[in-house]
Amino acid sequence: MPATEPKKILLAEDVRAISMRMSHALETNGYEVRVAEDGEECLEQMETFKPDLLVLDLIMPKMNGLEVLRHLRAQQSTQHLPVIVCTAKDYSTELKHIQQTGPVDVLIKPFDPDLLLEKLRQYFHEPATVAGTTHRAHLPAATEQYAPVLDTKRPHVRLWGTRGSIPVCGSKYAQHGGNTTCFEYNTGKERILFDAGSGLREAGQSFLAGGPCHIHLFITHTHWDHIQGFPFFTPIYVPGFEITVYGERGFGKNIESLLCGQMDRDYFPIQREDLRAKINFVFLGDLPVKIGEVSVTREFTQHPGATVCFKVEHNGWKGAFVPDNEFLQGYTGSPALLERDTDLVVPYEPILKFLDGMDLLIHEAQYLPADYPKRIGWGHSNLATACALTKLVNAKKWVVVHHDPDHDDTALHGKLNLTRQILREIGHPIQVVHGYDGMTEYH
Ligand SMILES: [Zn+2]
Ligand SMILES: [Zn+2]
Repeated sequence: MPATEPKKILLAEDVRAISMRMSHALETNGYEVRVAEDGEECLEQMETFKPDLLVLDLIMPKMNGLEVLRHLRAQQSTQHLPVIVCTAKDYSTELKHIQQTGPVDVLIKPFDPDLLLEKLRQYFHEPATVAGTTHRAHLPAATEQYAPVLDTKRPHVRLWGTRGSIPVCGSKYAQHGGNTTCFEYNTGKERILFDAGSGLREAGQSFLAGGPCHIHLFITHTHWDHIQGFPFFTPIYVPGFEITVYGERGFGKNIESLLCGQMDRDYFPIQREDLRAKINFVFLGDLPVKIGEVSVTREFTQHPGATVCFKVEHNGWKGAFVPDNEFLQGYTGSPALLERDTDLVVPYEPILKFLDGMDLLIHEAQYLPADYPKRIGWGHSNLATACALTKLVNAKKWVVVHHDPDHDDTALHGKLNLTRQILREIGHPIQVVHGYDGMTEYH
């Protein structure tokens, strides 16, 4: 408590909420307080109130705190007046000069009134010998730094390769990447891969750190862009890894000879018999494959050969991977005219039923509507009909993949804007993004 004669404190502070809080604390502790709301008023009150100490905000209307301080130090009567400067910014250079003429202390905003009281006790019980120290208030726990860390153990999808047909590279493709198809579904426990395009190489490297494990690899079909990463999938060379490869029965050859055929001595220096991991080949059927709590099912798509797509169901979440599917082959009309019972659409009912109500639909839309007429039957969707498909199956979110190698980043930006426009036109403005190599989607 101050001595019997109350000490007089002038608060020069333009923010009323702060001055009220401080004057309340000071008055409760026996000080006599006046408030000045700008620099000029502060100098006026200095004459009439004659405070024992000034608490001075630096940023004030009419005349700022530094000007006030210079003025005070130039007057004989206030040359040695103790001043506590309140500031949110570091004005140490400016204050250093002024400090030489009289005691100036600094409180960094925001500060607790208790800290001001503590300073006043120092001034009035021990003469002002502590000038120059800077203090920041202890903030309440609720305002401590918020620094969340991503929980990578949550289920998520990772896209290792999003390009169709052939890998591309160069600065034009820097944003989306150039690796061909490879997706991962990661539960935090199980890591399940879909397709073995060139993106599989990096996926394989990511497995090495965790040590040998059982990897499940589902193949949609055996076109180059979906298998060419297999010989570069490092876990196949590491003893202790077990890799189960799931594929549909092709026409004639089986999945093992198709995958490992590209390691024939004429094409590749290491052969099937040199692989050190345990590798199993499994034919897909109608039954779901169960991996932990994950269920994987497949359906045939409109694409040359025996091509399938996959659906993942996990604790109520549903996602589908459909990199190659020419939905409504040959249709070049408006997507707004299509319904589930439209004659043209009815033959596609099995896949529409399979893709119904996905939380995340990863589906291709390789060709622009203007280009599609020249590419009918090549096995890839016209963007407009792909938009219609997302509406017909009521997808909640769409990630577009299997980007055409001719579409660089600039072309893909334009294409995405067109996609959003078409989705709005057909009354299905869902969230749509372009997949890129390395993209991770948590759910
Ligand atoms: Zn493909
Ligand atoms: Zn294909």
